[in-house]
Formats: sequence, C-alpha cells, structure tokens
Amino acid sequence: MRLYYDDAYTRDFTARIVERVTVDGHPAVILDQTFFYPTSGGQPNDTGMIGGVAVLDVTARKDDGAVVHVLASEVEGETVACAVDWTRRFDHMQHHTGQHILSQAFVQVAQASTVGFHLSSESITIDLDKTNLPDETVAAVETLTNDVVWADRPVVARIIQQGGSHDAENVRIRKLPEHLLTGGLRVIDIDGFDVTACGGTHVARTGEIGLIKILKLEKRGDKTRVEFRCGARALRDYREKNAITNQLMADLTCALVDVPQAVARLQEDFKAEQRAAKGATGQLIEYEALRLLAETPVTNGVRVVKRAFTSRNFGEVRILAARLTQEPGTVALLATSDETVTGKAQLVFAHSPDLPHDMNTLLKQTLARFPDGRGGGQPQMAQGGGSASPDEIKSALDAAEQTLSS
Ligand SMILES: [Zn+2]
Repeated sequence: MRLYYDDAYTRDFTARIVERVTVDGHPAVILDQTFFYPTSGGQPNDTGMIGGVAVLDVTARKDDGAVVHVLASEVEGETVACAVDWTRRFDHMQHHTGQHILSQAFVQVAQASTVGFHLSSESITIDLDKTNLPDETVAAVETLTNDVVWADRPVVARIIQQGGSHDAENVRIRKLPEHLLTGGLRVIDIDGFDVTACGGTHVARTGEIGLIKILKLEKRGDKTRVEFRCGARALRDYREKNAITNQLMADLTCALVDVPQAVARLQEDFKAEQRAAKGATGQLIEYEALRLLAETPVTNGVRVVKRAFTSRNFGEVRILAARLTQEPGTVALLATSDETVTGKAQLVFAHSPDLPHDMNTLLKQTLARFPDGRGGGQPQMAQGGGSASPDEIKSALDAAEQTLSS
C-alpha cells in the first residue's frame, strides 16, 4: 500500500517485510505498507532508514507496481521501524507543488504550456513550448506564482472517476496523466487555481512553499528551459548570491546598483593597459632584435642568431624571430623552456626570405631528439615543442646550427 498518496507528512512508521529481493547486488525489501516515495513522475525517490539500515533507492516494480526499498545491507526481523529523510522529502514536496503553480502561471500569463519537468539535487527546471518570453512577462509569472503561495491555498489530492460527471476531460488538466490508479485518476487541486494529474507528494497548503524564484531562462530549440527554486533552496540561492554581491561591493567599494558599471570600467581599464603593454613589448623586442643582430657575427654572408630563453612567453619569442628575419641573410634559432628539468620547451626556427634553407626539415630533425617532440611549418618558418630541460635545448640548438653550416 502506498500511504504517501493520502498522507505526505508521516515520516516515521512501522511496517512488515512481505518480500525480500536483490537489486544490483543490494538487498531490498517490499513492505506491507510504505510512506517511501519511489522515483516516478519526475520526482526522485525518498531516502531514509529501514530497521536501522540506510535506504539507497526506492523504485516501483514494473510488473506489479510493488514499492522496492533498496538497502545498504541486510535488515533483521520481520517488523521494522521506518523513517523517511524529511529534509529531502519536504524539498521535493515544495518543488513539486511549486512546479504546479509555476506551470499554471505560465499558462495564464504567457499561454505557455509545460512539456517537461526535471528535479534533482543539482537543478530544478521546467520546459515550456514557447520561446522569446519578455522579461516583464516572466516577472508577471513570478508575481502571480508567489501571490498564490502567500494566499496559503489548500492543496488537495482527489481521485477523478473515469467516465463520471467529473470526467478528466471536464477538468482543466495541464499534463497527461502519468499515474492511473485503480478506478480513477489522481489529480492535485490547488484550490481551483490549478488541477493537474500527478502521483507525486505535495505540501498541504501553498504557504509551505515559502518562495518561488525563477533563476534563468534558456532557449532550447523551440522550447524554453526555466530554472527555478522553491523554499529552502530558494533561500540557499539568495544566501549564496547575497554573499557574492556583498563581496563584490566590498572589493569594488561601491553600492550594489553600481557594480555592473564598476566592472565595465575595470574591463575598459584592463584593455587599455593591455594595449599599452603590447606597445611597450613591441618596442622592447625591437631593441632586443637590433642588439642581437649587431652582436652576431656574419659568416659567409649568413648571420645565425641562436638563443635559448627560460620561462619566456612563446608569443614574444615568435615575434622576435619574425623581426630578426626581416634582416637579409639572417637565421633565427630560438627556444624557450621551463626552469624545471622535465618542463615543456617550445622552439621557433626562421630565416629571411633571401636564404634557401628548409626550416621545417631542420626543426623536425631537432624535435626528433625529444621523446614527445611535435611541430612543423613552412621552409621559411617552423615551430614546435617537446619535453626538454634548458641544457637539452641548448645542445639541440647547437646541433641545429651545426647542421646549417655543414
Ligand atoms: Zn505533482
């Protein structure tokens, strides 16, 4: 017997074990009566304790609908004391009832129907059959939803007899029935505001939901996913966001309303600094290139600039190689490696357009010295990397220079 249908509030009860089974290697029991909710209709299962043993999962058996309680270990005895984890159950009750109200509010305010519902420990969402809902509409939905919460309307589960005067078709039912009970259809009636066929657990009065907050809307094809929170989870969400905004206000020394503007100003300042730094780096590289060109001797009409840097930005090294090889008769063999012995090294080989060498082949020969060396490019410029210590990089560059002059 599923007692939670008529009573969602009893959490401690005694039951008799009528069957013992095994589910995926775990012992499981079927009770003569239960308040444990099995996963169904978009609502996750309850957890708790049976005979002092933790309940891992609760499912409904396909062939006969029996509620199967999956346990962490075997439970002793025939009659057992049971306890439903109330924090988890009440959270589900708040969100399930909240979802009914929210879905009906979207129908009334935006003519949008709910076509999906998802409830887990991470997120709670409904999917609407409409897109591009304006902010004002969403705000109106949220206001109506909370008005219904604060009016503290009674929430009643009723069984509608099929074919009777209260035929399912005569009642405004939003969702297709997921739970057909013997002799009728179970509907949840929120005091005339909404009537939905549902087999889940709900609060007795809407006031128990406390608050319903829409967090965000996300377009998904021709549907909209609405993320929302009810009750304790809405409070937790508010608490987290309040802590973050307080921190932002302290960091930016401004009022809450001025935070977006302060962040925008920081971003602009940062971009300006970046532009200035880029200009300064360009100038530094220019001086460095001129110095390297001046101090490198020319042999047989070719100047080979060879440098192994440590922990230098590889972007800068590439710019330096490009600048050096603007000078006719110049080869650049540059590399940068981490200070650590097994660090990642990066190399760039380049020459000025007037020289005939193939940098791609030379680079590949050099990288072959390292176990994970990879790279390539054009005859005039090639780049790559591998795991090599600063000493290994130095001897690799020496070998490449040898190959060039031979
Ligand atoms: Zn429900």
